[in-house]
Amino acid sequence: MLEKENADIVICGGGCSSMLLLFNLQQYPTFKSLKIVVIEKEVQHQQKTWCFWHKGNHPLQHLITNSWQSIRFEASHFTTTQEIHPYTYSSIKGEDFYNYFLHQFIPQFSNITLIRDEVLNIEKTSSRLSKVICKNHVYTTRTVYSSIINKEFHEAPIFLWQHFKGWHIKTEEKVFDKNVMTIMDFSNCLPNSFDFVYILPYSSNEALIEVTAFSSEIWDERVYLKQLNKHISNKLNGAKYEIELMEKGQIPMACYNHTDLGKAGEILIGTAAGKIKASSGYGFEKMQIDAARLASNYFMNKLPNKPGQKRFTFYDKLLLKIILEKPEEAVTIFGMLFKKIPIPMILKFLYEETNLYEETLIFKNLPAIPFIKRIFN
Ligand SMILES: Cc1cc2nc3c(=O)[nH]c(=O)nc-3n(C[C@H](O)[C@H](O)[C@H](O)COP(=O)(O)OP(=O)(O)OC[C@H]3O[C@@H](n4cnc5c(N)ncnc54)[C@H](O)[C@@H]3O)c2cc1C
Repeated sequence: MLEKENADIVICGGGCSSMLLLFNLQQYPTFKSLKIVVIEKEVQHQQKTWCFWHKGNHPLQHLITNSWQSIRFEASHFTTTQEIHPYTYSSIKGEDFYNYFLHQFIPQFSNITLIRDEVLNIEKTSSRLSKVICKNHVYTTRTVYSSIINKEFHEAPIFLWQHFKGWHIKTEEKVFDKNVMTIMDFSNCLPNSFDFVYILPYSSNEALIEVTAFSSEIWDERVYLKQLNKHISNKLNGAKYEIELMEKGQIPMACYNHTDLGKAGEILIGTAAGKIKASSGYGFEKMQIDAARLASNYFMNKLPNKPGQKRFTFYDKLLLKIILEKPEEAVTIFGMLFKKIPIPMILKFLYEETNLYEETLIFKNLPAIPFIKRIFN
């Protein structure tokens, strides 16, 4: 027998974007009068570290464990390390994020109920009401937010994975500069492949070293291990180390025509709303900004209004096509980008905050032919 209940807001999925939405909704004084139900099917969340760049203090500053003011990029025959003012690059551990939301934030609000259940369907029952049908419950509500990814997303015509495996290592000797994170190190990249090493140094002898690749197929386990070992022996002079933790994951990178609303009129959030940037895989800050916008829309009674940034979708599409068709060409393009363009400008571009003039300057410094070729096929 299904339990039937009413709620003011139902949030489908209890992951990152849902927690960010709750965090932003509670900034409004009438929040406590709303009955909110969050439905999450899993008991355990995946091990993640979220990294993002931001200006000034972040709304979730209390969860940030490490920050860096400088970024390093390396390709064959070229290295640059730059300060990234006005940005700071920060990381939040998934464990800290969920500990805070599940054991501190949610328990202090009696109006939020977190349910372990699986959403099976969302139906529009009248012009104002929707039904969220789960395995064990049915909720009737006026507002549904959903972070459940549409199955068609994985069938997008341009689809690849950002897949990675990393080790949190502790070395015997001091081998890391804890002030500089490495965003991409292509110097040990495999032939005909778009793969790089990403490094978050936590201290002079502790770091997360992650091998990351953008491709349509996920690698065999042995390839990540080979690349990780190669990096450690070439770049850390074979330093002795212990592995403290392992992180593995895959982020979808797709050019998909995301919409604001799902089929039953539910408001989409997170990955389901296209908040993961197709060409970079970053989504945390975009989801936080979107959650603030959605919370304001809710309390100000406005309909969702997504600012149209179609040209960025176009740039992403071209870049993903190059990575898929000619990964080694994409590695060269990234090398040129970081050689010619200051890193803070690249970060601004990746957050889709540049203007047309700045984008012209960026593209003027990149080889035109790979992009032009992909416009027409
Ligand atoms: C390993 C990893 C590392 C990442 N690192 C970064 C990073 O450093 N920086 C960055 O900006 N982005 C990063 N991302 C990308 C992005 O920020 C995360 O994927 C983020 O968690 C997306 O948030 P979300 O709410 O869309 O999805 P999720 O956090 O995955 O939440 C969706 C939730 O919905 C639940 N769910 C799904 N279907 C149902 C259903 N039918 N019923 C009930 N519940 C359901 C799932 O169990 C899940 O908990 C990373 C992604 C991964 C996978």
